[in-house]
Amino acid sequence: MANAYELTRDELAELLTGEPKYRVDQVWTALWEQDRFPEEITTISKPLRAKLAEALPTTLEVANDVSTDEGTTRKWVYRLHDGATIETVLMNYEDRVTVCISTQAGCAMACSFCATGQAGFNRQLSIGEVIEQVVRAGREAAPRRVSNIVFMGMGEPLANYDVTVGTIRALHEQRGLSARNLTVSTVGIAPAIERLAKEGLPLTLAVSLHVANDEERDQLVPINKRYNLERLYQACDTWISETGRRLSFEWALISGVNDTDKAMHELAEYARPLNAHVNLIPLNPTPGYLVVGSTAQRVREFRDGLEELGVNATVRRTRGRTIDAACGQLANVTNGKRRSIPVR
Ligand code: SAH
Repeated sequence: MANAYELTRDELAELLTGEPKYRVDQVWTALWEQDRFPEEITTISKPLRAKLAEALPTTLEVANDVSTDEGTTRKWVYRLHDGATIETVLMNYEDRVTVCISTQAGCAMACSFCATGQAGFNRQLSIGEVIEQVVRAGREAAPRRVSNIVFMGMGEPLANYDVTVGTIRALHEQRGLSARNLTVSTVGIAPAIERLAKEGLPLTLAVSLHVANDEERDQLVPINKRYNLERLYQACDTWISETGRRLSFEWALISGVNDTDKAMHELAEYARPLNAHVNLIPLNPTPGYLVVGSTAQRVREFRDGLEELGVNATVRRTRGRTIDAACGQLANVTNGKRRSIPVR
């Protein structure tokens, strides 16, 4: 089922055959710059609106809408046409408006501390389903404009490669978002990182590292058994040399697991030669993982320790915990089944 955001301008023109030429621009602008759904494009006639709405139906239905942080963080659960559910988070900051989007319903990566991974994989999203999340968040953020998009919702973006790349291209070209403001977070699918490096795309890459020795990473982040730390390192190196950009490592701090001095030194050794930035995330609670996050004091010590070891590190401010909207808490998968899917 196509929706408006899966259409090229030429395909839209075809749909508007018989109309004056400027209609294409008019509709395109309404869809991409004004975040209007076809039935709301009041600059065109009612019958034409109806025709477009029928040809280009929206694909997300709001199943739940919750907010926290004094209304600045909002989370939607959407039901898709087949009943699958996904989640999107909108974060209003003083200087930016960030939307966190899902690329899959569920996730097959099975990271033990992540609620999405605990629930299992349901299905891939289409480009239209991904972009509509941005459009809907944009409608709610208005009059502020969405300035940043992070591919950090449900799913592994690089396991839905074509959709992720197509979405980035569309957001960059149609919404004018720049590289600095588009961030893809990956669990570390090495060949896909290398492929992405060669796309010439404007984006920032974040790699969910969490542990920097194979034995423990195999446990926490099972994809490590397929692409171990050495293989991942190669891919990160390729990313940097091909794109000329820095990358960042995400590290969810888990008490007694990866917040020890030993873990800090392993991380520093891994990150330093790549000149990678480390983004520390205090662990958010999830139902299936009973280990707790590091204390605030340990988080600070860990950051300071990394800095002393010559690694640039910052702590991600946690948002949305009370509505299960924080990192690793998106899990509203009603019919998630764990099964493996091919990974490039
Ligand atoms: N699959 C991608 C995209 C998910 S992004 C990836 O793994 O990067 C979500 C980020 O939150 C990732 O860095 C993930 O490792 C992190 N995360 C998962 N569970 C978490 C938790 N319980 N607390 C804090 N961060 C978590």
